[in-house]
Formats: sequence, structure tokens, C-alpha cells
Amino acid sequence: MKWEEYLVPSSLEEALAILKEHQGQARVIAGGTDLIIQLKKKEVTARCLVDITNLDELKGIELEDDFIRIGACVTHQELASSSLIREKAAVLAEGASQVGSPQIRNMGTVGGNIVNAQPAADTVVPLMALEAEVEVVSSDGIRREPLGGLCVGPGQCTVDATAEILTAVRFRALGPNQGSAFARLAKRKALSLPILNTAVVVTLNDGGDTFQEVRLAVGPVAPTPFRARKAEEALRGAAVEAQAIAAALELAAQEAQPRTNPVRGSEEYRREMVKVLLRRSIERAVQAARGS
Ligand SMILES: Cc1cc2nc3c(=O)[nH]c(=O)nc-3n(C[C@H](O)[C@H](O)[C@H](O)COP(=O)(O)OP(=O)(O)OC[C@H]3O[C@@H](n4cnc5c(N)ncnc54)[C@H](O)[C@@H]3O)c2cc1C
Repeated sequence: MKWEEYLVPSSLEEALAILKEHQGQARVIAGGTDLIIQLKKKEVTARCLVDITNLDELKGIELEDDFIRIGACVTHQELASSSLIREKAAVLAEGASQVGSPQIRNMGTVGGNIVNAQPAADTVVPLMALEAEVEVVSSDGIRREPLGGLCVGPGQCTVDATAEILTAVRFRALGPNQGSAFARLAKRKALSLPILNTAVVVTLNDGGDTFQEVRLAVGPVAPTPFRARKAEEALRGAAVEAQAIAAALELAAQEAQPRTNPVRGSEEYRREMVKVLLRRSIERAVQAARGS
């Protein structure tokens, strides 16, 4: 079905009122880079599209106390070029800089990337390593929850875009002794979804030779992006040494659930590459933490 109405509300209240009034027949649109294709393929239907890109509440990247708040309509290009994100959450700037192409990065938003819930989403994997939480509003109120629980399967998000609006994402800015890095494997450098992407945040002790905490996020080698918790646990308190890292990454490879796929490669290859990309990300994150 082709949409009949395209509305551009000027306030969040107005947007929520439109969604409520249409009782499931209206749907939020941001950059439209996913949604327009899905509407054309009839994978999604909506009688009314509610364009949220004019809403001030959904714009901007701000540092509030030690936390970074990113409005849902911030584009990948804005994330990639933000000096605040590059300095305090480099892993996210790196992930955003690799989305699609300049045109897609100029239109596509972080909120759309999250709600579209693809296991390969290039900003979601870094945001999981940053332990981000999201803010979601509806006419019933506001809820805040960890980003990690939002994606429940390929293309399945707990945010209902016919009734709710994801307004912002928030996480603690990285500080002293912390570093982060993103790595991506794809067939081409542009306009190619990742075969694998990894995001790492490390916290080192003051001497820079021991891991205090390591966060390892990986996509798309399971139905949803995931944190390699067993590997993270193995590295907690471990020396920053190749042997300890290699042993932990064996666990990460076991936590992945890749399937042989004609585009993304064999299960064995993908499992092996989980170790390779995570190792590279850890090494770069450690370098950043030592320099911070
Ligand atoms: C050619 C091409 C290449 C691409 N390459 C990549 C890539 O390399 N990496 C990658 O991760 N993605 C890629 N994408 C996917 C896409 O660009 C991103 O997922 C983008 O971030 C989606 O954002 P958007 O604003 O365009 O979302 P939209 O298309 O506007 O919306 C996507 C979904 O989210 C809902 N939605 C949007 N914003 C909100 C909100 N604030 N609250 C509630 N619901 C909302 C919509 O209803 C819809 O269901 C690519 C897409 C194309 C077409």
C-alpha cells in the first residue's frame, strides 16, 4: 500500500498525537533510507508517514555531566564528524563513518539504525560496547532502557514505530585509561553491509598493563548484535598480553553463532574472523587507552 499522508509535525507532542490518532496506521520516518525501501517492497505498510526530522528534541550531540546524549535524528555524518564523539567515544565515530556511502550517511539517522534492528547495524554495535541506554516516548509516557535489550531478532525491535518515538541515546563518555576501537569486514569499502563488525571499549589500570574491564560487541554473527560476555570475563584483571587476549578470543568465537552464508562466507571462516577483528580492535583500543 502506498502512503496517503506525509506529515511533518513541529513538536514531539504533535507527533505523538498523530501516531495515537492513527491507531497503528501511521509510522515514524526519519532519514527514510531503510523505510522507503521497505514500503516499496511492501515489507512494511503505513497509511501515514510522520516525519520527525524537524523536532528539536531529537537533534544535537551534548555532553551532560559525564554523559553524552545523542538525539535520535542525528545523522551518521554528524556522528562521524563530531569532535566530541571522536574524542570521547571514538568507536562510535568510526562505526558511523563506515555506514553505506556519503548520501546514506547524510540522510540515515542513529535512531533509524537502532529501530531497524539489523544484526549488522554499524552504530548499534559500538553503542552496545559503550553500554548505551535509550529514551523512548509515547503518549503513555517515557521509558529508559539499555540499548542491548531492544533488538530481539533480525529486523525486530521492541520500539513500536507506529506508537512510540525513540528520542535519544545516552552513554558515559570515555575517560582516562579508557580507549575504544571499531573494525569492519565487508566485500567493498562503500555501499556494502558488513560481513562482520566489532566494537571494543577497554579500561586499563593506571600502569596500562592490566585490563580492568573489557567490553566486546559483535555483529552480525548471531540473530542480534551481542556482547561476548565470557571473553570479557576472561580478560577482567588479565595482563595486556597476546596470550591472554588469544585465549579470551577463543571464547568469543564460541559465543558467536555464525551460519554458512553465500554472501558472508562459511561458518568456520566467520568464526575465525571474529577472533581476528576483535584482536585488532582490542589492540587499537589499548593503544588509545595508553595515550589518553
Ligand atoms: C544503500 C544503503 C546502504 C546502507 N548501508 C548501511 C551500512 O553500511 N551500515 C548500516 O548500519 N546501515 C546501512 N544502511 C541502512 C540504513 O541507512 C541505516 O539503518 C539508517 O541508519 C536508517 O536510518 P533512517 O533515519 O534512514 O531510518 P528510516 O528509514 O527513516 O527508519 C527506519 C525504521 O526505524 C523507524 N524509526 C526511525 N527513526 C525512529 C525513531 N526516532 N523512533 C521510532 N522509530 C523510528 C522507522 O519507522 C523504520 O521502521 C544502508 C541503507 C542503504 C539504502
